[in-house]
Amino acid sequence: SLKSKTAVVTGSTSGIGLAIARGLARDGANVVINGFGEPDAIEKARAGVESEFGVRAVHSPADMTKPDEIDAMIALAVETFGSVDVLVNNAGIQYVSPIEEFPPAQWEKIIALNLSAVFYAMRAAIPHMKKAGWGRIISTASAHSLVASPFKSAYVAAKHGVAGLTKTAALELATHKITVNCISPGYVWTPLVEAQIPDTMKSRGMTKEQVINDVLLAAQPTKEFVTVDQVAALAVFLCSDAASNVTGANLSMDGGWTAG
Ligand code: NAD
Repeated sequence: SLKSKTAVVTGSTSGIGLAIARGLARDGANVVINGFGEPDAIEKARAGVESEFGVRAVHSPADMTKPDEIDAMIALAVETFGSVDVLVNNAGIQYVSPIEEFPPAQWEKIIALNLSAVFYAMRAAIPHMKKAGWGRIISTASAHSLVASPFKSAYVAAKHGVAGLTKTAALELATHKITVNCISPGYVWTPLVEAQIPDTMKSRGMTKEQVINDVLLAAQPTKEFVTVDQVAALAVFLCSDAASNVTGANLSMDGGWTAG
């Protein structure tokens, strides 16, 4: 159990991150929730974690593209709960466009959020984990950390980077009882997936139904979306003692996508 431990989950006001934060709280952890959204919705999610799971939860509004705000988020966790035992790097965005039309500002933002933020959060959290003599670092990578799809250059580059950074950190921390892994989901039905459908319709000249069946689920042999709760269950497992020798791994949960 994660009782009396502290988990920081980036991008946890929505989708996969919120499910992971709730899963870790269910296992007893106090959590720092992070991400954007309507203040009322964020407060509802935060208060829900506290009342449903009997733990404490605070929200950090840190923008993960800004290293100083990442430091402030880790500091908030330490000030509020006394430690950072579990770091889940989950915040991420997508942008769909051919390379020659890909706006450089979008490239920079995706690299900053989906890749560099993982480095900055590790950098800030690792000293606390070393001091405690225990830690778990989990990043939400993607099937796109292993294979590519056209029109997702920045995302695929960033996610491949997360997989490499995960391996490096795992080796550096191997003797400190700190494991470092990434989870690589296929398509999970979340606002992120829903939001990219219009651009994919435009890039490929398809209807919404064609994008869902011929693009998204075409890659996924099970023909089902992964659920956020399934991803959360794997994250909870990675925090357990049973997973103490799982480190440097890139764990696929993609309905068979990357088997093909
Ligand atoms: P989502 O859009 O539902 O949630 C993204 C979260 O990140 C939100 O809480 C949002 O507020 C937060 N966020 C966005 N920009 C931020 C910033 N600058 N600073 C801090 N927080 C920020 O997305 P999701 O589908 O749950 O995706 C979560 C992660 O899972 C991402 O890294 C994504 O790449 C990855 N992933 C998603 C899928 C999928 O199919 N949904 C598949 C593989 C990997």
